[in-house]
Amino acid sequence: QLVQTDLAWHNRFHQLGPDFFTPLAPQALTEPYWVGRSEAVANLLGLQPSLLYTEDLLQALAGNWPITGTQPLASVYSGHQFGSWAGQLGDGRAILLGETNGFEVQLKGSGLTPYSRMGDGRAVLRSSIREFVCSEAMHGLGIPTTRALCVTGSDDQVWRETPETAAVVTRIAPSFIRFGHFEHFAARQQLSPLRKLADYVIERYYPACLTPSTQSGNAYAKLLQSVTERTAVMVAHWQSVGFCHGVMNTDNMSILGLTMDFGPFQFMDAFDPGHICNHSDHGGRYAFDQQPDIAHWNLYALGQALMPLIADQAQALAALGTFKPTFKHQFHQLMCAKLGLMDVASQTSDPTLADQQLITELLQLLAIDRVDYTLFWRRLSQAVASQHFEAVRDLFLDRPMFDHWLLQYKERLMLINKELQADLMLKSNPKFVLRNYLGEKAIQAAKTKDFSVVADLLKVLQHPFDEHPAFESWAGSPPDWAASIAISCSS
Ligand code: AMP
Ligand code: MG
Ligand code: MG
Repeated sequence: QLVQTDLAWHNRFHQLGPDFFTPLAPQALTEPYWVGRSEAVANLLGLQPSLLYTEDLLQALAGNWPITGTQPLASVYSGHQFGSWAGQLGDGRAILLGETNGFEVQLKGSGLTPYSRMGDGRAVLRSSIREFVCSEAMHGLGIPTTRALCVTGSDDQVWRETPETAAVVTRIAPSFIRFGHFEHFAARQQLSPLRKLADYVIERYYPACLTPSTQSGNAYAKLLQSVTERTAVMVAHWQSVGFCHGVMNTDNMSILGLTMDFGPFQFMDAFDPGHICNHSDHGGRYAFDQQPDIAHWNLYALGQALMPLIADQAQALAALGTFKPTFKHQFHQLMCAKLGLMDVASQTSDPTLADQQLITELLQLLAIDRVDYTLFWRRLSQAVASQHFEAVRDLFLDRPMFDHWLLQYKERLMLINKELQADLMLKSNPKFVLRNYLGEKAIQAAKTKDFSVVADLLKVLQHPFDEHPAFESWAGSPPDWAASIAISCSS
């Protein structure tokens, strides 16, 4: 049964031709049901939100009925996993339906493809809920990310460590092209598709690379520099909110600098710079404080892949050299906003040595006492508003150490308008993040077919700086059992 929508499809990735994908329809899911849906994303796509309540769209997005105008495919890519070359990977459980309104629409967990390798092509309910809610939460925080329209579930069994049920996430992004797509053709010395892919990405997503400018280098070097800068900005955002991605393999790195492929990610509760959120990451390669260096390493892998096009090593190195200053600048701006240390009119802060020291020392204090990261920043924002700092101070074990820092901070605060400052802080420090235990609550309820927690969580996290008084308990300290949640690569 063909499903009609008002959407006009322009499947531009499909037009790249057969070197890049295998045409393939998704596999059916038995008697699907809605697990979660985002009306905001429907609007973004140009899809009537009311369609999210119809049988037609449910069947279509579970992979059962085709949508008129789509040209489903699984794309091929390769990549480095945990620092080693992994060879060919590809969409092993994702199907790109097509492109509409500037967004590619992808079903994740929609069955076997030629790239499934040892996998079953499926995704389980728990990881699908986590990806759905987290991508919307990231967007709510103002962090570049792929988005998600909905999750459809089924009682179809999927075997992981135990029997679980299958689900499909419908996710959208202007493009799902990864660093690994470039590495794929470079490794095979297939210069013509490599160039075609680079030209496509430049023309569609980085047209500024084509115009002559003061920025040095050829168009491909400029592409590398633009991707480097966007990736640095993305990771600076992650570090500022305490987000740990967990699997920063080059096949999970978006060419658009979007957070993507949400697996064992975690928003940290207690601040621990060396935190490893992925229980399969025994060496801690993707520990929280390693993320900027790993992103840079991944960009080198992309640069290597683009070398046949850039041709000039000095240009490639210059492009990659923009990572550290871009990261440093962006991180400083974000942290200054969190501290309220900003010129309110220009929304920028000169990176003075004194402010940098204030930030570094604070992060050290938070780490030593393993202070809850989100709670600290929100309470600090409220303290600046009320000028009562006891609730923040209570979060520390070593109070004299905190008092010492607070003294310097208060001195710095006196230079700025307190009301505007507190206002900026409340808009920069979320009251709510997707803590593991909150995701777990939504998952446990969903397993009993109660999808209301998924809906509530989505509603709150899409606007994480708002008060949401009905959900006050979600803004507090995590329960003791939160620390024992183990998230692995299994999904
Ligand atoms: P990830 O680490 O989840 O980003 O996945 C790495 C690679 O494994 C990608 O090529 C995925 O498509 C593939 N993959 C992961 N899980 C499955 C699965 N259950 N079935 C088929 N392929 C999978
Ligand atoms: Mg992946
Ligand atoms: Mg830890």
